[in-house]
Amino acid sequence: MITGKNYIGNQLSAKGSKTFKTFNPLLNIENQWEITEASQDEVNQAAELATEAFKTYSKTSGAKKAQFLRAIADEIEALGDELLQVYSSESGLPNGRAKGERGRTLGQLRAFANHVEEGNWVDASIDTAQPDRKPLPKVDLRKMNVPLGPVVVFGASNFPFAFSTAGGDTAAAIASGCPVIVKSHPMHAATGEMVSSAVIKAAEKTGMPNGVFSNLNSSGIEVGQQLVQHPKVKAVGFTGSIHGGRALYDLAAKRDEPIPVFAEMGSINPVVILPQALNNRAETIAKTYAGSITLGTGQFCTNPGLIIGVKSAGLTSFVNTLAEEIVKVEPSCMLHPNIAGAYETNKSKALSQSGIKVLAGYENDVEPNYARQVVTTVEGDTFLNNPTLHHEVFGPFSLVVQCEDKQQLEDIISNLEGQLTGTIISDDNEVAEYSNVVNALQNRVGRIIFNGVPTGVEVCPSMLHGGPYPASTDSRFTAVGVDSIKRFVRPFSFQDWPNDLLPDELKNENPLGIIRNVNGKLTSQKI
Ligand code: NAP
Repeated sequence: MITGKNYIGNQLSAKGSKTFKTFNPLLNIENQWEITEASQDEVNQAAELATEAFKTYSKTSGAKKAQFLRAIADEIEALGDELLQVYSSESGLPNGRAKGERGRTLGQLRAFANHVEEGNWVDASIDTAQPDRKPLPKVDLRKMNVPLGPVVVFGASNFPFAFSTAGGDTAAAIASGCPVIVKSHPMHAATGEMVSSAVIKAAEKTGMPNGVFSNLNSSGIEVGQQLVQHPKVKAVGFTGSIHGGRALYDLAAKRDEPIPVFAEMGSINPVVILPQALNNRAETIAKTYAGSITLGTGQFCTNPGLIIGVKSAGLTSFVNTLAEEIVKVEPSCMLHPNIAGAYETNKSKALSQSGIKVLAGYENDVEPNYARQVVTTVEGDTFLNNPTLHHEVFGPFSLVVQCEDKQQLEDIISNLEGQLTGTIISDDNEVAEYSNVVNALQNRVGRIIFNGVPTGVEVCPSMLHGGPYPASTDSRFTAVGVDSIKRFVRPFSFQDWPNDLLPDELKNENPLGIIRNVNGKLTSQKI
């Protein structure tokens, strides 16, 4: 049952006076559920409870945390079709997408369970004492990763499961030993409540402390601001727009005790098509890209918003085919009237820039909240000199930049802001002649793709989903895959600490059998 209340630890609570409703973009009507925004009192309670929970949860074994994470996945699954229906009615996304995204979310939770059960992630490092060392004896030092403390998670509207309530950030923080307070996304607050009920059930069933998880509703930015400013909060995970991520990052930096904000934000994901590839298969590439630009109504952070090539007959053939193909795609519904409105505003802003030409756009009437896709083109010089053209237009929009030569291609890439992905489309070995372009691209992105499309983010340990600012606020970390746990921990050393009192990970006997760096050698042997 959806109550519209907040979860303050295990308790449902609705002390606030402000309520709001979510919206069904397909039907263009409000959903029935009345959601109550969290009050400052409830923000404080959630933070206090999380701090209390941290005292025991931070010491919980990998095996117990794995039980908790697996139970969350099981409880989400047990919500069955009703959860999928609520998801669709709050996002307009079809049932197939809901199922797929739920599968990904369960997979993430279970992957983290395996990761912490195996235990090597703590990066245990031991340098044993040398009492006889001259001129001074050497102390015994043992280091491992420990959790930071309560983490606030902000989900994105375009992934109501995988980047939201029990999505990647929450799974990573819980796996690390940090309690989580979710600032529920106002566009899918009912979906968020259902998923939260599963997390709470799992916490109770596996004996986790009250406060290990809370879920707070809000329809505006105040609750999020209060959470980020709360002195008991020790880190933030955010997925969403550059504007939102940067605002929270600045807020966290201004605190008396600044805290890390790991924000994964927007990106235009440059795609470079090299001349031979354009010459040999311009039409095939254009057809593939018409699909990628419009996939999920263009509402993916990895949407290819920028395509770059050197002027040639092949590039002309590419833009012509892209123009023909893009209008064949049936427009689809965006997540919410606000996102549909922002798409129209940002598209108009881009189209009003001097030098930009529309290649083709869907022109027929569409249902409310549906997006009409458009592809555009611009000369290399114009693009280089107009930063507005470098900004994300979130939706089915892409800009083809036509460069004069190889040098301009490299200049354009070097002048891009940080991106989540970069793609090179190449034939045979021509990429070998473009090492400067590849190097320039590598400096601007978190992941480089060869002969593919950027849409689609595989969840596995070798995935890097992040990149130089503004793709993320810290390019040293990934937001997807088990390594994302590293955002919520800090290295910690014990010096000459009694063996019995050390965590199991650092004891001489190595009771967990994990791989450790002992005196410079990786081993799972005891000392
Ligand atoms: P959003 O508008 O930035 O909202 C994300 C969350 O942040 C919401 O809960 C929002 O609350 C909150 N928020 C935004 N601005 C805030 C502020 N100034 N102070 C406090 N809280 C604030 O993003 P979205 O529309 O949900 O998601 C779409 C964007 O996310 C796109 O740009 C897309 O590229 C990006 N995205 C990135 C990734 C990635 O992994 N890098 C993945 C998916 C999406 P309110 O709504 O209540 O303001």
